Amino acid sequence: MTKATYDAIIIGAGHNGLCLAAYLQRAGLDTLVLERRHEEGGGANTEEPVMAGFRHNLHAQYMEFFDIMPMIQDFGLEDLGLRTLMPDAQAGIAFADGRPPIVLHRPDRLDATRASIARYSAQDADLFVELKRRAMALEALVATNLYNPPNLTDSTPGAQADMAEALYGDLGVGRHYIQKSPKQVIDDLFETPELRALLYRVTVEWGFPVDQTGTGGAFLSFVMWTVGNWKLALGGTHTLAKAMTQACYREGVDLLESSPVEAIIVEDGRAAGVRTRSGREIRATRLVASNADLRQTLLDLVGEDHLSSLWVKRAKAYRYGPSHVLATPMFCLYEPPAYSSARWDPDIDRCFYTMVGFDGPEDTIRYIRDAYSGLLPRPAAGTWVNSLWDASQAPAGRHSATGWYFMPPASSLDARQWAEVRAEYNDRFLEVWRESAPNMTPDNVLAHKLYTPDQIERKNLMREGDFSNGEFSPDQMGANRPFPEASSYRTEVDGLYLCGPSAHPGGGMHAACGYNAFKAISEDLGLASPLVAERGY
Ligand SMILES: Cc1cc2nc3c(=O)[nH]c(=O)nc-3n(C[C@H](O)[C@H](O)[C@H](O)COP(=O)(O)OP(=O)(O)OC[C@H]3O[C@@H](n4cnc5c(N)ncnc54)[C@H](O)[C@@H]3O)c2cc1C
Repeated sequence: MTKATYDAIIIGAGHNGLCLAAYLQRAGLDTLVLERRHEEGGGANTEEPVMAGFRHNLHAQYMEFFDIMPMIQDFGLEDLGLRTLMPDAQAGIAFADGRPPIVLHRPDRLDATRASIARYSAQDADLFVELKRRAMALEALVATNLYNPPNLTDSTPGAQADMAEALYGDLGVGRHYIQKSPKQVIDDLFETPELRALLYRVTVEWGFPVDQTGTGGAFLSFVMWTVGNWKLALGGTHTLAKAMTQACYREGVDLLESSPVEAIIVEDGRAAGVRTRSGREIRATRLVASNADLRQTLLDLVGEDHLSSLWVKRAKAYRYGPSHVLATPMFCLYEPPAYSSARWDPDIDRCFYTMVGFDGPEDTIRYIRDAYSGLLPRPAAGTWVNSLWDASQAPAGRHSATGWYFMPPASSLDARQWAEVRAEYNDRFLEVWRESAPNMTPDNVLAHKLYTPDQIERKNLMREGDFSNGEFSPDQMGANRPFPEASSYRTEVDGLYLCGPSAHPGGGMHAACGYNAFKAISEDLGLASPLVAERGY
């Protein structure tokens, strides 16, 4: 039975809301989490939406931050069932004419990565491996940047240029690279079209538009660190949400599902509680934190009457998409795809993440630009067959494949048009898939389904289907996220905090928005800091 009053109320049980709740309760605050859906986890969810026994992660697939995520250590999530695996072959690209694939291996197998790229260019292979090796040494820096409020000094172009120069200057990849777009950096560094096609795609996956100038530094540090540094959550991504939920219960947090919050109660300029859609009011004596997106939190839940005109203007100007919009195709298979490129390198058949339908860099660029400009691209995808490593994800002898298509933002098409996309796009993609993996015939597919951006928006309230809840561009990143006046997780309503991906560092399964919101709250309320000396953040 939930109480009428708590110290802290959190709106939304996404992984960031759960993270904040666990830390708050441990710090002595009686905490309630209200979730509108019937289950916790938000984007950390795994379901069987096509056929019983075939599991698919509808949203997050690869986990790149588990080794540095404070909550995993601080709350012993591995003891609560979180299990991971890091496939050897991480990211691959297969081609329709069966020419050699490129396969990037995990960071301890850079020799294999070098051999794969060297089939095309020894020079590219050496440079890529050297850049990757140096990027991996940035782990502490990545962690410090993620798990702290945005640092005004570190994110200036001057500071980034100094870092690029110090890290890569001797390779001729110095300070002027940070002003370039990722595409310009990739084109400048690598001559192999096949490698470029792959790198464009992994760049946009991390939400950095390939043509966005001024993000070259982010490519060289963050994208180079994350690519091929991915783990699979055994049992499905939902196991992260489950372990976090268990940690919350163990600390004594109250969680209430199927309880959409309709309003944040503001009294005398202070967040005093919430009202749920059923009309129930629950009071908060210390704080309310929102894992919901920025516009919903400020404009719908708080309301313009309680905000200054500046904050209303800033919230309305915050942009969602077009560069982070995905659709998730799901296939139930007899056999996993067998690529004709495998005659060169069998690892392409056991890649964690395989790109299909991009025969060269022009294809990737056209595909991305079409999606960004509101057009349906010719089908191509990044694909996952998680049952290759985790037998729990499909019935015995069968396979579950999931993928990502880049798509136009949800509002680009109407409901009827999205229904048409769901009806025909997977079949068109299967034809493309078959060009590089001949066994992907209709006979190999028991059933399939497509989950589109309009559905992502409805299910998770990720506006426009934007997977980061807000475009990544220099004016919406770091100390500018979501806007400069709100970049410290605090809002102009006293006692109201942001703990979702509209805040720094944005989308992704890192729980950093929740962790950093806790840091801000602990500073304001004089709670014990979560900082662990050996960890350094
Ligand atoms: C297709 C897709 C693929 C992705 N792939 C990856 C990936 O491979 N790796 C990765 O790291 N990230 C990935 N992401 C991004 C990742 O899923 C999100 O960044 C992440 O889910 C954000 O977590 P969160 O906890 O802050 O918010 P969310 O997961 O969005 O959770 C917010 C929660 O708040 C609830 N809520 C909202 N409004 C209310 C309200 N009014 N009242 C009560 N509850 C409310 C929602 O129901 C939801 O449960 C992907 C996203 C998508 C869409």
